[in-house]
Amino acid sequence: ANGPSAAAVDAYLTSKLAPKGQWADDPILEECRRRAAEADMPEIEVSPMQGQFLAVLALGLKATKILEIGTLWGYSTYFLARTLPAHGQIDTLELSPVHAKVANENFLALDLYPFPKVHVGPALESLQKLDIPGTEEGLPAHERGYDLVFIDADKERMYEYFQEALRLTRKGGIIMCDNAVRGGRIALEENDNPSIDVTGLRKLYDWVEQDQGKTVLMSGIQTVGHKFWDGFAIATKL
Ligand code: SAM
Repeated sequence: ANGPSAAAVDAYLTSKLAPKGQWADDPILEECRRRAAEADMPEIEVSPMQGQFLAVLALGLKATKILEIGTLWGYSTYFLARTLPAHGQIDTLELSPVHAKVANENFLALDLYPFPKVHVGPALESLQKLDIPGTEEGLPAHERGYDLVFIDADKERMYEYFQEALRLTRKGGIIMCDNAVRGGRIALEENDNPSIDVTGLRKLYDWVEQDQGKTVLMSGIQTVGHKFWDGFAIATKL
């Protein structure tokens, strides 16, 4: 019971694994965080190690087209954008014009290139307006679509976001959902009055159960760290 806490381990890993002055240790991020605090934004961004995890995923996939749902001040967007080649594309969807403004200021300060495109408005509406990338350029069918989608917005619409992400992702692409465990509440019995943040998730897991490996293969990974007990649901389109 007196061992190191998950938060202490997270701090240790970050101190070891963030390259000095780069990635999670980029000094400009402090300025970005301050800008977010000045705008009274909640501290609900991914952790530094989760940010680097997203970057590892994107680099491993050799992603050139990335979609994010839920921008906040652009912290996770930063990790994803940093992995892209010059001809890459990153779209990020955000409801709040204030969040979008701060994120755009941060992307300028971080000198991100390609520059992330923030789509302001309810994500479901933005998603429905998005075309499958590569369609206009006439890419062959198997090359059309995002390589990686990160879903991290309002939890109630997790299922709807996932279905839109599936439409927009190429075969073999990855869809990653944050907040997939919610302190274990996901596994409470049905009649335990699930809170609003797990009903959307349950709808997603019920769909995956029915799919039986036809459309996606998904894994659920629990996470601890400097934040509370939660998890990622990570899927590939088959
Ligand atoms: N991905 C960010 C990161 O890790 O740095 C954190 C995103 S934060 C957890 C969730 C964001 O989703 C907030 O900025 C919130 O304003 C936005 N959001 C909430 N409801 C939304 C909706 N219906 N459409 C688009 N964005 C929404």
